[in-house]
Amino acid sequence: MKIVLGLCFLFFTLSTNGQTANRTIAITIDDLPVVSTRKDLKNRQEITQKILGHAKKANVPIIGFVNENKLYDVKGKLDPDQVNLLRNWIANGFPLGNHTYSHVSINAVSLPDYEADLLKGEYVIKLLMAEVGQGVYYFRHPYLHTGRTLEKKAEFARFLADHHYRIAPISFDDADYIFSAAYDKTFDAGNKELMKKIGAAYVPYMEAKLAYWERQSTKLFGREISQTLLIHANFINSDYLGGLIAMFKKRGYRIVTLDDALKDEAYKLPDTYLGSAGISWLHRWALAKGKDTIEPDEPHVPDFVMKASGFDSE
Ligand SMILES: [Zn+2]
Repeated sequence: MKIVLGLCFLFFTLSTNGQTANRTIAITIDDLPVVSTRKDLKNRQEITQKILGHAKKANVPIIGFVNENKLYDVKGKLDPDQVNLLRNWIANGFPLGNHTYSHVSINAVSLPDYEADLLKGEYVIKLLMAEVGQGVYYFRHPYLHTGRTLEKKAEFARFLADHHYRIAPISFDDADYIFSAAYDKTFDAGNKELMKKIGAAYVPYMEAKLAYWERQSTKLFGREISQTLLIHANFINSDYLGGLIAMFKKRGYRIVTLDDALKDEAYKLPDTYLGSAGISWLHRWALAKGKDTIEPDEPHVPDFVMKASGFDSE
């Protein structure tokens, strides 16, 4: 009887979720320890604890990408309190990746300078990961800027291989940083009503964006690839990461590690994009195939959020 019930349940699950049953997504979080208008330790601790709390509560993996220049005080001394913010990630089982020391764009500096900044940015995270018997395996380009010539990209790829790094691409691009700037500024101004309105618009915006990347993936591959999400260690995610995870689950997603998401064959495709924008790998692959493979109607940040953020454009 149990088996029959089990089979019925399985059939029900498959038939209700249809082709969405195998959706997977990895959650990657940039600009650690924290990016916020309030730089005091208490705020950073609160944001860190809340982000980690959401992931622990939902029992899902996340990976954080660090800018180590945020770990030093004004005198250039390593601040143990800031380092402890990162220790919290590792203590909860969440790995750290390299996002350069100073969040510099590869398009703004020479390759030797960029590589020096990357190496300067692995000092603390390598020590911390070694404490749990692991290394630092992923690199995320700041601004998703990846170089304007194939030569620079190829040379940097060799450098990464020599230093045992793998690029952490993303398929699910979004403007969480605009929402968070709006959320921060509204909080700083004491406008709780607007803050609530911004927060309430965030998860629906992200869901519309995810639906867009699902369509873009199907247009390009005839199927939905494993999604890789980029968000930031910011104020709005400290309040809404739980809501985001719930939305993913509602859409039939299983949240997987970055390692697992990147096992999807799609990520073997080369990135030949040479433009100046920081764009999704789905758009890079689409542009390589021809502009007509770009899915139209990408959702935008609502005007009222844009206005509150102080950003001119997305
Ligand atoms: Zn960043």
